[in-house]
Amino acid sequence: MSFIRPNIESMAGYVPGEQPKEGEAVKLNTNENPYRASEKAYDAIRALAERGLSRYPNAVGQNFRKVAAELFGVEPDWIMCGNGSDDILTILTRTFVGENQLLRLPYPSYILYKSLAEIQGARSEEVYFLDDWRLPDYFSQAPAAAPTAPYRVNPLEGGAASDSLKLVYLPNPNSPSGTVLSVEEVEKIANNLPCPLVVDEAYADFAGTSCVELVKRNPRVMVSRTMSKSYALAGLRFGFLIARPEMIEQTLKVKDSYNCDSLSIAAATAALEDQDWLKATTKKIISTRERLQSRMRELGFIVPESHANFTWNSWPSPDLSHEELYLFLKNHGFLVRYMKYPAWGEGLRITVGTDEDTDACVDLVARYLNGER
Ligand SMILES: *Cc1c(COP(=O)(O)O)cnc(C)c1O
Repeated sequence: MSFIRPNIESMAGYVPGEQPKEGEAVKLNTNENPYRASEKAYDAIRALAERGLSRYPNAVGQNFRKVAAELFGVEPDWIMCGNGSDDILTILTRTFVGENQLLRLPYPSYILYKSLAEIQGARSEEVYFLDDWRLPDYFSQAPAAAPTAPYRVNPLEGGAASDSLKLVYLPNPNSPSGTVLSVEEVEKIANNLPCPLVVDEAYADFAGTSCVELVKRNPRVMVSRTMSKSYALAGLRFGFLIARPEMIEQTLKVKDSYNCDSLSIAAATAALEDQDWLKATTKKIISTRERLQSRMRELGFIVPESHANFTWNSWPSPDLSHEELYLFLKNHGFLVRYMKYPAWGEGLRITVGTDEDTDACVDLVARYLNGER
């Protein structure tokens, strides 16, 4: 007899990207920022450590909320802080999706959404992207009992009851593709949906477009953000949600009482205040991204137009093994992400690093294509 809930026992569990020892490999596999975060963030941590950590943090990260509210043109009660945006996504899933109810996500996209549904004992429906990385109309419609082509939906045990769709996740820009839907397209989806839509904007700073304006127009739209990618603070663990106060009021009940520690609140606040740092760093990463993208295309890879800090690279024919290329790069000290999506396809996701590291990685890819092993 097992003591474990059946939905936990049967799930595979989310597997994060590899984290080699410091200096062991050039990390281009988990979309971290290659540059050092704003010094203001480090100053804030040092100052707070000096003052001491004997007190509990502010439970809602009020200082951060004020700065974020000003930046996004909302009030502080439109913001909820999280221990990374993964924490935000966990809280949202727990707030909106009950056991056996339905959560929808596009496919292929961020695998964590499905894991969160599994933990919750909820069902998930993966709606496949079309060939041009747009979404079929079905994505914004009530779930069908038996959906058919031109989209594919993974089979659900017992089929989908049409009243059970409770939450939809949309990473925009998407991972692994780096592609983006326009604000108008997202608005159309939100307006049709019978439930809330979470736009996961982990990479929005690299895209230059954002659905935060939609949160103000449509009460069903929520936007999640992270400090991990564009602010170079993946190790800090800080993310936040922008949503209507009546939504935030409910999600605050679900979060751990002190889900963010004082150090991370202080550092995230200082980093967010340093928009000059963000602008300068993002500009550099975008320019490296453009070079990575065009060089990989020249080598013959299919690379959809990226609006993030990574590119999605797939070879047009089966005569190249993405996994072998990944291992070749790894043996030469470059870690990229080999992704295989069942019933869909595979490729390599390469994070934009410094100019030097990114160029060196592409040089290695070229050597592999020239027959080196
Ligand atoms: C990286 C990533 C996140 C998680 O960010 P954290 O704040 O580090 O938890 C969320 N969504 C997507 C799509 C991501 O790629």
